[in-house]
Amino acid sequence: MARGKTMEVGETCPMNGGNGPYSYSQNSHYQRQAADAAKTMIMDSILDKLDIQNLPSNTLKIADFGCSVGANTLQAVQNIIETTKHMHKTLQLQQTLEFQVFFNDLTGNDFNTLFTTLPTPGEYFAAGVPGSFHSRLFPNATLNIAHSSYSLHWLSRVPEEVMDRESPTWNKGKVHYTKNLKVFEAYSAQFKRDMEGFFNARAQEIVGGGLLLLLLPGCQDGFLPCETSVSMQYDLFGSCLMDMVNIGMVSEEKVDSFNLPMYLTSPMEFRELIEANGCFIIEIMENFNPYEDEDLPDFHVLATQFRAATEGLTSEHFGIKSREIMDELYNRFADKMADNTHLFDMKNMKEFIIFACLKRKNVHFNAEKHQN
Ligand code: SAH
Repeated sequence: MARGKTMEVGETCPMNGGNGPYSYSQNSHYQRQAADAAKTMIMDSILDKLDIQNLPSNTLKIADFGCSVGANTLQAVQNIIETTKHMHKTLQLQQTLEFQVFFNDLTGNDFNTLFTTLPTPGEYFAAGVPGSFHSRLFPNATLNIAHSSYSLHWLSRVPEEVMDRESPTWNKGKVHYTKNLKVFEAYSAQFKRDMEGFFNARAQEIVGGGLLLLLLPGCQDGFLPCETSVSMQYDLFGSCLMDMVNIGMVSEEKVDSFNLPMYLTSPMEFRELIEANGCFIIEIMENFNPYEDEDLPDFHVLATQFRAATEGLTSEHFGIKSREIMDELYNRFADKMADNTHLFDMKNMKEFIIFACLKRKNVHFNAEKHQN
């Protein structure tokens, strides 16, 4: 076996922290567009599906999984709280409602910056919860509303097979699944394992009747995720790295062992994974495209957004500490995207955002059944 070093994404993945020009907090409007477009769906699903009259306590416990840093998580939480306050008022419920909000992300997330931007005390009781959402993070039956936006497509690791030089699955010279079906299947299998962990954990943590609200990028049924424009953009990113190999800036061996730990599921696949878990009712599952009315993006802005999300991975893997080399990589990426504008033609886009509102069934979680 000649495997490259595989690494749990948790060790490196979090978005660029702080408030600088390449930080996630300054470069998350792309994700924000999806959240804004889904705002009404999220509010309506809480109004329709949350049984606020029968809460087990007068503290509503909310968690945002994969919160990162910046305005998006705060806005998502605010929307949830406003909706429940509105329900509470409309129903003229007597008991006072308090809110406890848990912000979850990987241990390397810049929680300090997040905490400095929390609303004034009194709005809600806030806590950071570090660790991977693929495993348990809360005691049994703690949460009333769990939310996650633009995070579940991050895999816990690059599938090992794609790093194996002797396997047909070896992803030489590429950084993501392309037309190589075996590589795609390895990613899909990793996503399945990750989602088993995610749903098993949430099934234990969410109270019966509690809601799990999910937004994640996905791909139309019937197409391979490698046919999406996002996947083709990743290919361009890989080719920028190969160009840098050719001019001696990075080593080919390093490019061969670098893969992006991201996966776009499809509604059908996602539905199957939820059903396989068996603890949730799929109340709503819809797709929407928040970007469809847009003109061509500013490619430097797009490359900077990608940088905010991936610089931790690339600098760690390539051992690049130099700002100039990072500038070179992401500038090249912007230029390549600008040379391939057909990838941004909405007519060709196979991707969208999947929104799912799941309700925790009132059934006991059977740990034996869910053992991998
Ligand atoms: N929800 C925010 C951030 C999305 S960026 C928004 O909509 O803007 C994706 C976030 O998911 C990153 O902060 C990343 O660190 C986090 N993430 C990825 N894998 C994770 C995991 N296994 N457990 C917890 N957080 C994870």
